[in-house]
Amino acid sequence: MLAFESDADTARTDTAEDRLEALGRALFAPTGSNGVHARTALFETAIEALSTLITAHREADTEVLRFAPVMSRHQVEKSGYLHGFPHLLGCVCGLQGDEAEIHAAVGRFNGGEDWIDALRATDLVLTPAACYPLYPLAAARGAVPAGALKFDVESYCFRREATHEIDRFQAFRMREFVCMGSPRQAFDFRSRWLARAQAIADALALPYRIAPASDPFFGRAAKLIAQSQVEQSLKFEMLIAVRSAAQPTACMSFNCHRDHFASTWGLHTEDGEVAHTACVAFGMDRLALALFATHGLDLARWPQRTRQSLAL
Ligand code: ATP
Ligand code: ZN
Repeated sequence: MLAFESDADTARTDTAEDRLEALGRALFAPTGSNGVHARTALFETAIEALSTLITAHREADTEVLRFAPVMSRHQVEKSGYLHGFPHLLGCVCGLQGDEAEIHAAVGRFNGGEDWIDALRATDLVLTPAACYPLYPLAAARGAVPAGALKFDVESYCFRREATHEIDRFQAFRMREFVCMGSPRQAFDFRSRWLARAQAIADALALPYRIAPASDPFFGRAAKLIAQSQVEQSLKFEMLIAVRSAAQPTACMSFNCHRDHFASTWGLHTEDGEVAHTACVAFGMDRLALALFATHGLDLARWPQRTRQSLAL
């Protein structure tokens, strides 16, 4: 408490802030880094139950792949992420050189000096979205068969976010279903998932709104690109009140990439056309947060429907 605060001031504390603080205390332990949390058993119970529920909704003939939290820097550069979102990208660096050079850098740290000048970028970056490593992998296998390709992917993702509200992590888990095929197949896949995701939210008794959205592009052209993304209905988000109803949180996204990734990686359909791709992304940590923010911290008091859907 600040020295000049009177008792009356303390009594008037913001209850919304109190609620978020209590959520944070019960669900996370601080790690000393903003937006990077140690998650409690309570939080992980919700994450595991959500994962199982999402798996139960997976379409037939879907290939499962789990990615590492790091991926090829070259692939991220080529995918256009570096142009679109350079401000969010995290790059893996390491000490390079012979033993003497590395010793010298560590020695500078031991002497209270700066050692990070000796760091050099490696060929890895931190995975920014779970589907990014998938497109080059699939393209390398050859043409997309007539029946389309479907994948279930997951990765720890990193984004160098500028602010660190309770729902804005730097490191978070993203689960995605991805489709590659004809324009119609990709579009229909997203439509099916838009419907299915709403059924999942209903089953969890989570109030939500689906809204057109855009990605947080960088730089002067950002507004224009984002506007065109909205006009073409390329991205929708499922918004759920976590921090407040006035500023709801994007917990899932539904994306049509058209031929963006397929053109980049040379992904074609069997008849030689450039493929289209689409993905539905579940922000696992945000969905778990949304459950606790909506239904409280006591799992036993969650609505019957929610408990049943999550087998809790
Ligand atoms: P695209 O494939 O079009 O690049 P995407 O679907 O792979 O997009 P986003 O839509 O940017 O990726 O993110 C997917 C989901 O990840 C979001 O809806 C959100 O739930 C979650 N997410 C994104 N950023 C954060 C963050 N900083 N903290 C926690 N969760 C996040
Ligand atoms: Zn995606």
